[in-house]
Amino acid sequence: MAWQGSTRRARLPSDWARIRRRVLRRDSSACTNEFSDGRVCGEPANQVDHIVPGDDHSMANLRALCAWCHAHKSATEGGTAAAQKRVRTERPKQTHPALED
Ligand SMILES: [Zn+2]
Repeated sequence: MAWQGSTRRARLPSDWARIRRRVLRRDSSACTNEFSDGRVCGEPANQVDHIVPGDDHSMANLRALCAWCHAHKSATEGGTAAAQKRVRTERPKQTHPALED
């Protein structure tokens, strides 16, 4: 089976719809996202997330997420480095007045 074309983003297996349904069923269509305090979201899920982003479409690398958590995770993945850089550059450089000449 040859991959056609190719943006990384579009690389989903031909039976993705079936895999997706299976993941949602396995996770009882409830969001599996675990917050930093250990609580699990549990909201109704209609999205399937790749735990490790990439081409691993195995059940072990997939989980059900609600739209909010999925959007939040995707935003974090794409923007962590940029966000950190932004915070750093936006923060005004503060020099203690006593140290200025
Ligand atoms: Zn959620």
